[in-house]
Amino acid sequence: MENFQIAIDGPSGSGKSTLARSVARALGILYLDTGAMYRACGLKALDLGILPKDEKAVGKMIPNLSLDILFENGSQRVILDGEDVTNRIRMPGVSVAASDISGHRPVRERMVQMQRDIAGKQNVVLDGRDIGSFVLPNAQYKFFLTADAEERARRRLEEMAVRGITGQTFEEVLSDIRYRDRQDSTRAFAPLIKTPDAIVIDTTYNSPEETLAILLSYLPDEIRCSRSPESPQ
Ligand code: C5P
Repeated sequence: MENFQIAIDGPSGSGKSTLARSVARALGILYLDTGAMYRACGLKALDLGILPKDEKAVGKMIPNLSLDILFENGSQRVILDGEDVTNRIRMPGVSVAASDISGHRPVRERMVQMQRDIAGKQNVVLDGRDIGSFVLPNAQYKFFLTADAEERARRRLEEMAVRGITGQTFEEVLSDIRYRDRQDSTRAFAPLIKTPDAIVIDTTYNSPEETLAILLSYLPDEIRCSRSPESPQ
């Protein structure tokens, strides 16, 4: 069977990463969280005291950024300039910095190149904003997740609590989400859009298990039944 690619796009908190992770586990394929890469770029700018919106300063920063994505037992680690920043990229403030920095063309070009390199080597599921439209326009399976903004904010808050990150109110998280929705969908280069060939799944009232079952129902049997015992967990 030829390698296949699954693209999952949608706004923040629509359930992409939970779904992509469980799809990867169910099928025994690699999951690449592309948002984590933009978060690492945003974090580097914050660490250097650079405004993520400052195009000139970011343009200078990007060629000197060293980013490695490692996969260990099915989980992704993000190494920025030699430091494991997997947890730090989830801190409050980094989400908005990631959204601000991701609008710059040199940032996207560098990240997209890395994403295509990883996706070209194996069966993969990628989640992000521009996977089906720009990173992997020929992906065989494309999904676009949506959910009400309030529900997405509630999930973000819960996800942060699980990671031990507290200190943001529901209103603050909701306002970040609305800011990023607006910015991610209106940027000039590779914005968040639903392509005509993507299947829309509204996850507002679904459990993660229900959403997974819906996605899997769109895949052919040979993919659903292909999981080998040696595949990553
Ligand atoms: O998915 P996550 O919330 O971690 O993404 C953080 C930010 O990175 C998003 O708000 C978006 O601006 C940016 N991003 C992007 N393209 C992707 C993935 C994420 O622009 N493929």
